[in-house]
Amino acid sequence: MSNNMVADHAIRPVENDTIFTISAKASEAVLKYGAENVINSSMGVLLEDNGDFVAFESVYSYLKDLDNPKIAAYASIEGDSDFLQAVKKACFKNHMPNAYIEAVATPGGSGAIHHAIFNYTNIGDSILTSSLYWDPYNTMCVENSRKLDTYNMFNGNGGLDIDAFKEKFDYHLNKQKRLLTIFNTPAHNPTGYSISDEEWDKIIDILKQGASNKENKIIVLVDVAYIDFCDEKFDRRAFMEKFAGLEENILILFAFSASKGYTMYGLRNGALLCVTSKEEIAKEFFYTNLHSNRGTWSNGTKGAMKVLTDIINDENVGKPFYEDREHYVKLLRKRADVFLEKSSEVGLELYPYKDGFFVCIPCKNPLEACEKLMKNNVFAIPLQTGLRFAVCAVSEDKCMVAPKKIKEVLAEC
Ligand code: PLP
Repeated sequence: MSNNMVADHAIRPVENDTIFTISAKASEAVLKYGAENVINSSMGVLLEDNGDFVAFESVYSYLKDLDNPKIAAYASIEGDSDFLQAVKKACFKNHMPNAYIEAVATPGGSGAIHHAIFNYTNIGDSILTSSLYWDPYNTMCVENSRKLDTYNMFNGNGGLDIDAFKEKFDYHLNKQKRLLTIFNTPAHNPTGYSISDEEWDKIIDILKQGASNKENKIIVLVDVAYIDFCDEKFDRRAFMEKFAGLEENILILFAFSASKGYTMYGLRNGALLCVTSKEEIAKEFFYTNLHSNRGTWSNGTKGAMKVLTDIINDENVGKPFYEDREHYVKLLRKRADVFLEKSSEVGLELYPYKDGFFVCIPCKNPLEACEKLMKNNVFAIPLQTGLRFAVCAVSEDKCMVAPKKIKEVLAEC
């Protein structure tokens, strides 16, 4: 008989979170050597050049001025109705697909990913994503008695390995007749890759081929957690319109998060949205996910919903917010550009970066490289096949010197 008090399915490894462990070591190094001598690129949050946390003033002054009941009261289980309208606009902006679209509020993008996994796959199913991925996808699959499988992410030309995707997609779809695929784009965590419109056309062709067998149920979850940190000039929402007029057995879901784009990380605000050609599928989505909200966390954060709603609907609230965000989008872009430029100068290879909080360095021994870098006061996160460097958390000056330091350490590993 086991000594565990937790039930069999809930026995988990006794281990601390890697990111928080490395971040704690970075804090120790700051105390010992001084902040100017430490490059802490471990945390996936936006920091000022001096290391202060970025929380948009426009968001927090507006939130704190709300009447208490607008923060304290329960929100509707499915999300307040004006929020549900606003979040559709926040997600799709001027690229709303011509389809049936519904939304249900969730605590951040994580809540949305949870519901997609729980409600659109069966126990024991495999869920598909790219070989480099945000680790909690796996945690959520395991937590819900599902499995995560991956396809090789990049081909030799710096693009998505569509052939590798097709092979795994066809395999699981044939086997399960139902398949959830997660694409984290644009501004993928951990690489910063954004799937191009041409790549989306190829993906959609593959989905359509799969949908020709009417027994198959194809669900795609687009995790857009970092979308609002893409520079507007790249028009990274254009692909969304491609989801109009799809077969009825293809359902597109979006996991929207207000954590980064609105600096609402701890306020837990987000939504799961669906895009479908069939009205009943949208209705089913709404009531199923409403039920899941009731059956998990009940409702979301009312004050956060109100702030996002007013940003979207009221120009006086929106204007200072968009000014705030624009400032930080530019700051992030500058840091990333400097990191890319210096990497190219010193010959440090990177996975293809397009937008967002992270760059990723391919590496054979990520754990060893991470340990050695820490000895040089550079703190990055070891992944399956690389090191994640969070440009969101590191000043431009430090982004300028980091590639050379990393290159030198990698030469020894
Ligand atoms: N998806 C990715 C790839 C992320 O990196 C994150 C947060 O780090 C999320 C989703 C969800 O974040 P949250 O639950 O805070 O909205």
